[in-house]
Amino acid sequence: MSTILDDVLLLLRSEALCDYCLGRQFARIHPEISNRDKGRILKIALLLNAVKKRDADTLFVLASNGGLDEAVKYVAEAGRSVEKRVCGLCHGLMDETVFRKAAEKAAELLHDTEFETFLVGARASGDVVNTEDRLRALAGLTEGENIRNEIKREISRVFANLTGKKLDYSSPDVVITVDLFRDKVEAFPNPVFISGRYLKHSRELPQSPWHCKKCWGRGCQECGYTGRLYPTSVAELVGEPAKTLYQAAGYKFHAAGREDVDALVEGEGRPFILELKRPRRRNIPLDHVQQHINTKTRGLVTVYLEAYTTRRHVRQIKLSASTAAKTYLLKAVYDADLNPDKVKELETRFRNMVVEQLTPLRVLRRRAEKLRRKTVYSVEAELVDSRTALFRINCQGGLYVKELVTGDGGRTKPSFAEVLGFVPVAMELTVLRVEA
Ligand SMILES: [Zn+2]
Ligand SMILES: [Zn+2]
Repeated sequence: MSTILDDVLLLLRSEALCDYCLGRQFARIHPEISNRDKGRILKIALLLNAVKKRDADTLFVLASNGGLDEAVKYVAEAGRSVEKRVCGLCHGLMDETVFRKAAEKAAELLHDTEFETFLVGARASGDVVNTEDRLRALAGLTEGENIRNEIKREISRVFANLTGKKLDYSSPDVVITVDLFRDKVEAFPNPVFISGRYLKHSRELPQSPWHCKKCWGRGCQECGYTGRLYPTSVAELVGEPAKTLYQAAGYKFHAAGREDVDALVEGEGRPFILELKRPRRRNIPLDHVQQHINTKTRGLVTVYLEAYTTRRHVRQIKLSASTAAKTYLLKAVYDADLNPDKVKELETRFRNMVVEQLTPLRVLRRRAEKLRRKTVYSVEAELVDSRTALFRINCQGGLYVKELVTGDGGRTKPSFAEVLGFVPVAMELTVLRVEA
């Protein structure tokens, strides 16, 4: 069985290796010693052995491919000339001053970014990885570590010392990416996620930007060259002021479902998560953010911000939106007098009633034809006057409420229209509660 010193000599005969790159091939043997120290120790041990045995050949390998000054001395004394070769794996880039330069570049890139925690990622060219693999196979070594690991660890150490910030693997505020081989350092803040609920006080306000169907946002006569059907949206009214406050590059508005443009959202409001991309500020007190947004929404929207949260939460509210219970208030105006007994009958008829809905005609252009079964949990119905009714409907998420009232020409069954004998001529919908 070969000793470690045999392996070291085999590696050095095959390739010029710096202390880091030699030590890394034995990284997992007593990992408490750094690769750099390990590489140096192994070269010295091999040197002592060679000096004792007067092994001129090994001393020459240590001087040239090992770049070991102590060995150069012996080779020179023997009257031979030798040149120290640069490391064939890292080309001399595994070096404290190189690490420091990269860490300083990252700190400079982040100088106007607020953060407490960071994570370092590293790239290495395919050549390096291939050469390293070949060397390990040659010596039958299985205790090495990936060079990218070592770069990440070294840069993290230097960057933490330089800035006083903390390494965080699970949810770092910023991510630094280093490619020593291309002399490239990048640093980006991770997004900030804020959960909250919104109220919408306008019946002419879509949840997300609604572009002109004719020009798809380029601007045409139809849309008065604005490119849009509605001048603003809930997403923009909430996202834009927050983007400014957090000095973010952009934002994404994730809501738990959506209401029709002409529906209000009152009561407890609709849950949402605002994602701010590449923010230079974070951890701003949410009461301050909430106040700032609410002064900018021109009375069209009110937000209540709840907490800083994570991307996982975004998936949760998107998933729950299609099934979570909703409560609506719907005002329906008819062109004939309603029978008060029939109106009251709705309350018993629709208690825990499963309703079958074919995709409503009004959305059929945008969505595929589909039959859905959704449950109406409860209905409270009252007459405002003989031709106006107010319905408070608690139902499963995804139910089309207007169609529950109109019957959508028989596509929703059963419906209020079947019981009352009339279809309303006008409806006003208000979302009161969305569970999430
Ligand atoms: Zn090296
Ligand atoms: Zn247009």
